[in-house]
Amino acid sequence: MTPLLELRSLGCGYDNTVIAEQLDLQLQAGEIACLLGPSGCGKTTVLRAIAGFNPLLSGAIVQNGEEISAVGFMLPPEQRGIGVVFQDYALFPHLNVFDNIAFGLHARSAAEKKQTVAEMLKLVELPDLSSRYPHELSGGQQQRVALARALAPKPKLLLMDEPFSNLDTDLRKQLALEVRAILKDQGIAAIMVTHDQQEAFAISDKLGILAQGRLQQWGTPTELYYQPANPLVAGFVGKGELFDAECLSETTVQTELGIIEFAEPFGAVTGKQLSLFIRPADIRPSIEKGSVMARVEQKEFLGSSVVYQLLLPSGRRVESEIFEPRMFEVGAQVSLHVAAHRPIAFSA
Ligand code: ADP
Repeated sequence: MTPLLELRSLGCGYDNTVIAEQLDLQLQAGEIACLLGPSGCGKTTVLRAIAGFNPLLSGAIVQNGEEISAVGFMLPPEQRGIGVVFQDYALFPHLNVFDNIAFGLHARSAAEKKQTVAEMLKLVELPDLSSRYPHELSGGQQQRVALARALAPKPKLLLMDEPFSNLDTDLRKQLALEVRAILKDQGIAAIMVTHDQQEAFAISDKLGILAQGRLQQWGTPTELYYQPANPLVAGFVGKGELFDAECLSETTVQTELGIIEFAEPFGAVTGKQLSLFIRPADIRPSIEKGSVMARVEQKEFLGSSVVYQLLLPSGRRVESEIFEPRMFEVGAQVSLHVAAHRPIAFSA
């Protein structure tokens, strides 16, 4: 199937300063993707290149098999049929809600405009606020109007740049899930830029980690979480730390946290040195005596779990998160047991 959008070895930046390069990805019709990465890594720059606002320094952008951007060529944004929602809503302050939403519908008759605006307001679940001005709306309502405006011309692809970042946490999560439902219902593909891992996991079918000027990995959230391509990706999609490990057999490794046994062989050879990524939830403290003891330095009760900071004999500190009501006090000596289902291992 021809992808809706392809980045082919894309490079972009400003005045010949390369911000990101060698970006390859494919997005199918109706798929929702997120670009996740630290602030300043170039997510907005890439999104603007896809929208047709920023030129390319290398590579190409292909929409339905046709080049829309290449070095020295940009199909104008309005000819791409791509909707855009920005972080700061960018509603026109002097236009009311109706005119904001109808803005991209200039070629339509008055009756058509009226019908589409009404449809869009219903879709984004806004009560009839069509005669209000942006400053008379809450942040969440403004962002719903911005979404309605971007969806009104019925784009096949929607680009969203940190669309929920000005909203408080609860509203953000709710709106992210609602937007996902709307896009799925309408069959609209989307790429959203965010630096919030939870938001990215909640909304995306595909996830890309942009860091150090490269797309580090592109895949489903589950793939990135369980099979991160490198330590950078592992650290970005979940908490955890790297530990040196020596393979004792096909299924066991020796680490500072003791011997770890995995359920299945994972392709490691006895004697091989690895770097193992271990998450806090995989580290289980116990009062039973064990081969590796640690001291509880700090305890944080989070309700559904307890997070401990543990001091290892080497002086290294590790975090352990347990979801059982069993509690250890600060100062207690505990033994450690690592129960990771599947190893996340990188060559040392
Ligand atoms: P992100 O969206 O990941 O936070 P951006 O794409 O906004 O990152 O920015 C990436 C880099 O490009 C930053 O170092 C930023 O300072 C730089 N940059 C952004 N916009 C411009 C511009 N118009 N001119 C020059 N440099 C820019």
